[in-house]
Amino acid sequence: MANIVQEIKNALEFYQALGYERMPMRLRAEGRRPVIGNKESAMTLLREEIAECGRCKLSQKRTHIVFGEGNPDARLMFIGEAPGREEDVQARPFVGDAGMLLTRLIEKMGLKREEVYIANIVKCRPPMNRDPEKDEIQQCREFLERQIDIIRPDIIMSLGRIAASTLMGNEKLKITAIRGKIFDYRGIPLVPTFHPAYLMRNPKDKWLTWNDAQKVLERLERGTLDQGGG
Ligand code: SF4
Repeated sequence: MANIVQEIKNALEFYQALGYERMPMRLRAEGRRPVIGNKESAMTLLREEIAECGRCKLSQKRTHIVFGEGNPDARLMFIGEAPGREEDVQARPFVGDAGMLLTRLIEKMGLKREEVYIANIVKCRPPMNRDPEKDEIQQCREFLERQIDIIRPDIIMSLGRIAASTLMGNEKLKITAIRGKIFDYRGIPLVPTFHPAYLMRNPKDKWLTWNDAQKVLERLERGTLDQGGG
């Protein structure tokens, strides 16, 4: 009971820091991102709240929680599935070989890693890099949802089947069938693409991800023009 009360208290403080007078039932983007309070401090608050998280069994073997990193005011957010070995050691998302490939994609898109935000569906490494399990995703997804609530990106690019199917609430999705299409995630355009680890094993498919990235760039560009930017 004490835990539940503490969790509600944390959530209330979190949304207060975002500038809300009460907890939103469901946040929706209206036009471009709504102006909300201090994103940096809301993110710090959330990071502190998660710091000792023991909600699911992934807490038992992790070295570090991999919270996510980047610009809390990013227009583009990448979401993968789970930290791997290197990420678990460094407490940073996408820093292994697959991470280097993601960084190259971001740079090829004309952006810097620090300009976007990178996070995962679950924040702790599944043993032996297995897929995160249903109960683990269920326990952890609230944290990602709250990160998205803070950032309110203009567009999300999900990496791999698990990230896409979790965000879209459909386990049966095939990444080959949905990649490169634009979906809606709570009012935010969502473009699924392959996971960089898959692309390392199947480099012949890299051009498909580059096509998907161009769709994202077009969407971002259109958003900039709608805002009267150059
Ligand atoms: S994966 Fe998420 S829910 Fe599970 S222990 Fe880590 S932070 Fe907590």
